[in-house]
Amino acid sequence: MLRYPHRQAMNPSPVDPSALEASRRRTGLLLLPLAAMATATAWLMSYANHSLNPVDRWLLPLLTLEALLLWGLLYLRRLSVREVEMGTVVGLGAYQLAMQVYLVISGEVYRDGFGATSLWYPLMFPLIFLILPREQALRFSVTYYLLGLTIGLVGLALGASPSLKALNSFVQFYVVCVVYLVLLDIYARVREQYFLMRQMAHTDPLTGLANRRAGRECLEHTLNRAAPGSAAVILADLDHFKAVNDRYGHSVGDQVLREVAFRLDQELREGDLLARWGGEEFLILVQGADLEQAQRLAQRLGAAVQEQPVAGGIGISLSFGVAVFRPGDSVETLLERADQALYRAKHLGRRRVELEA
Ligand code: GH3
Ligand code: MG
Ligand code: MG
Repeated sequence: MLRYPHRQAMNPSPVDPSALEASRRRTGLLLLPLAAMATATAWLMSYANHSLNPVDRWLLPLLTLEALLLWGLLYLRRLSVREVEMGTVVGLGAYQLAMQVYLVISGEVYRDGFGATSLWYPLMFPLIFLILPREQALRFSVTYYLLGLTIGLVGLALGASPSLKALNSFVQFYVVCVVYLVLLDIYARVREQYFLMRQMAHTDPLTGLANRRAGRECLEHTLNRAAPGSAAVILADLDHFKAVNDRYGHSVGDQVLREVAFRLDQELREGDLLARWGGEEFLILVQGADLEQAQRLAQRLGAAVQEQPVAGGIGISLSFGVAVFRPGDSVETLLERADQALYRAKHLGRRRVELEA
């Protein structure tokens, strides 16, 4: 059974993964220098007032370097956005855990509480949830949290006797982390629901193809970027399909539609769009094709459906209308020409491909 997301290019623009990736990349390019500046400033300030602890002394410069390096690799596109995000999280997590160990070993946390660490430590959680799918994010975050908690508890078990103020900070710190985790899990569930509903709103339930809404969004997105002459649309309509329904019943008709969708899909490339445009009408958007290439593709699509009966013995044919993206075309004008060509194909006897006038 075909599923909507199997054809990545169908994803329409506003929330398509490449648009999201581009915005994450921009955010990374903006935030990494800020992070480098923050860590360098922290190091210099602590150095100036002689309060540089051993963890900061070594790890802050490393974090500064890591941020600059990741920025460079992201800028040069040597690393993917996800790799850069993971690198940031791992660097930050290692620093935070090392700092926990230091605070516990030095006994500082049992005198003064967590101080500035309490601000930065939980930052890991939203970062992790941003990068990973919910369940993975939860596992990763809980592990990170438990490591921190274990470090704190081991210090207590080894005989640290915290001041009341420090104990309060200690408890608040570990409790608020749990609250962050629970809230983030709720947000991540909402996000999952959103993507599920969005996918449902863009998928044709019968064939699993992109539906008309998704097809239209994808058309607009593609035509906004395509050069005239480098994209073509094909409208395909089943011939005498009403007769199939009348003769074999509606559920067999449904099966025919599913099989036709499957065969059309098999003939297309990864970047092509195949959408169920109406009842027994399909839209194909081919990128990088001129009129002649689109015509040949339509002929192949027709052959793929016509050469073997569908649904256990029903012979079915298709009529096609083909139009190529011209300068000044809108989605409407392009579709209009493909529709006129399809109309002509029907008029001229069906089971054929007609090109725009
Ligand atoms: P033509 O060759 O002129 O296109 O003839 P046609 O019979 O295919 O066209 P017409 O527009 O007269 O009929 C289309 C039929 O498609 C009628 C409708 O019941 C059927 N249809 C539309 N959507 C579905 C569906 O989801 N399932 C089934 N089984 N039939 C559908
Ligand atoms: Mg028809
Ligand atoms: Mg029709």
